[in-house]
Amino acid sequence: MGVAENLTAIRKDIPGHVTLVAVTKTKPVEMILEAYRTGHRDFGENRAQDLMWKREKLPDDIRWHMVGHLQSNKVKFLAPFVHMIHGVDSLKLLKMIQKEAQGNSRVIDVLLQVHIAQEETKFGFSADELHDLVQSLDLSQISHVRIRGLMGMATFTEDDVQVRKEFRFLKELFDRMKQSAFAGRDDFNQLSMGMSGDYRLAVEEGSTMVRIGSLIFGSRNQ
Ligand SMILES: *Cc1c(COP(=O)(O)O)cnc(C)c1O
Repeated sequence: MGVAENLTAIRKDIPGHVTLVAVTKTKPVEMILEAYRTGHRDFGENRAQDLMWKREKLPDDIRWHMVGHLQSNKVKFLAPFVHMIHGVDSLKLLKMIQKEAQGNSRVIDVLLQVHIAQEETKFGFSADELHDLVQSLDLSQISHVRIRGLMGMATFTEDDVQVRKEFRFLKELFDRMKQSAFAGRDDFNQLSMGMSGDYRLAVEEGSTMVRIGSLIFGSRNQ
């Protein structure tokens, strides 16, 4: 199947309120255009450099999502145009986004990344760290950053029970924050979880954004 067919199949499979971010890492511009021509506008990359050059070569009305780990020193390159930064995993990064967003007279939407997987290598706050961060955070000091919700990546495993447990954990954390630190902030309403292998489970557990690459564009050759 081609890119357009794959997109159609996935759109049919997820509820209308769930945003599908097409993750284009390692994929050529021509393939991304195929998706664009179907009307798709939300695209994601996990490396700042790739996001930058692809943006140059592709239409302006694409909403670019930075879905991977982002180093603070790269924020300035993305700040003029990025639509959402999914992987905020330190206070340092959050402060840098504030600085660069302000410099560009923009408000940048971000998600706080939570470490929910069993693997050591995935980035993100623990639940305790997140709690401490939010306690210490003065939202008025990050006037140009809008914390829209949370993001997480489940363990890479065939074990659906485990994956579901991790997504459920993230959803519960999200709900608790929404009722406490972010009470009354209607824009804290996004939960980015689910990839090619586990998006159905993620949606069942309350995801509002799935980040899907290989199921749309084919597997990556790396
Ligand atoms: C690559 C990537 C995805 C998409 O992965 P697939 O398994 O190809 O769907 C989603 N999120 C992040 C952060 C990624 O790096």
